Amino acid sequence: MQLKCPTCAKELEVAEDHPSRPFCSNRCKMADLGKWLDGEFVISRPMTVQEAIESDYDDA
Ligand SMILES: [Zn+2]
Repeated sequence: MQLKCPTCAKELEVAEDHPSRPFCSNRCKMADLGKWLDGEFVISRPMTVQEAIESDYDDA
């Protein structure tokens, strides 16, 4: 089975039970996971006190 590694775009042949599939290696797998986690932290940044106060006024 021919796949393209999502991290480094290297074409690779991996078995159905390859542990890092669809990545060419565990390193590429972890690099992709790291990208995801970075994005999560940007989105779920904690609310500031000022934002909490303003959202309270919106509800009233
Ligand atoms: Zn790779």
